[in-house]
Amino acid sequence: MRIVKSKRDLRALVSGWKTDKQEIGVVMTMGALHEGHLSLVDAAKTDNDRVIATIFVNPRQFDNKADLDTYPVDTDADLKKLEDAGVDLVYLPQADEVYPKGYSTTVAVGSMQDCLCGATRPGHMDGVTTVVSKLLIQTSPDRAYFGQKDFQQYLLIQRVASDLDLNVDVIGVPTVREDDNLALSSRNRRLSEEQRAIAPTLYKVESTIADLIRQGEAVDHVLEWGRKVILDSGFDRIDYLEIRSEEDLELLGDVTDRDNLLGGRVFVAAWLGNTRLIDNYPISR
Ligand code: AMP
Repeated sequence: MRIVKSKRDLRALVSGWKTDKQEIGVVMTMGALHEGHLSLVDAAKTDNDRVIATIFVNPRQFDNKADLDTYPVDTDADLKKLEDAGVDLVYLPQADEVYPKGYSTTVAVGSMQDCLCGATRPGHMDGVTTVVSKLLIQTSPDRAYFGQKDFQQYLLIQRVASDLDLNVDVIGVPTVREDDNLALSSRNRRLSEEQRAIAPTLYKVESTIADLIRQGEAVDHVLEWGRKVILDSGFDRIDYLEIRSEEDLELLGDVTDRDNLLGGRVFVAAWLGNTRLIDNYPISR
């Protein structure tokens, strides 16, 4: 496995592979890798001749300095996991390689980014779409793999790739969960034992909401029930609990016809102390 830190070295390796007509898949991460990230690598290995993983804790997507300062970093363990998973190349840039002095361009998607995490974390989505665009240009892959756990991010990146003619297939990989259905996340490492026991409530609530909606319950009613269960379980605050379209994130409510509602997902973000957890679940499972 090659490890490179500069765009120049990255491009040199990638252009050699392109000359040899090798298909390239990329998996972008912020490190602190777990089985969720490795499922993206597995998907990329299956579809491509070469797999690139990137590790970059992107300062521009953190709306909260404490979150950035405490974001878990474990590069040696990450590199071992990527090597064991069969990654060919890891791109591990420093911040000034990604944003050199004078850097001033932002890639921002239209209205789809104004809801969910875009509404509750100012600047976050622009930070994500900007860095992902840069990494897509730098790695010029045939396919790029994103987790459905960050569903809004996945849809926005599909939009960017299409709108900017980046000529890459953006592929969404299903969420990997713990045995108790908590979605794997690097931030789970920060949970106390007590918080960890509370965290799976998000899955219980979103999956129950999906069941109830399929059975014909009213949206307002089930969302109100869900908010109460989340807060009663010990979560400190809810950023959102909503049902939105999987296609364009349009808000779906009781006025919407039922067919639309069945093409929706439950989206949730909530805080346990200083840790913000997100998840989502399709209505029609
Ligand atoms: P992150 O390092 O958290 O920025 O995540 C890097 C990539 O891994 C993103 O595409 C995430 O959506 C994806 N990812 C994170 N957690 C999971 C999970 N539990 N299951 C599947 N993919 C995930």
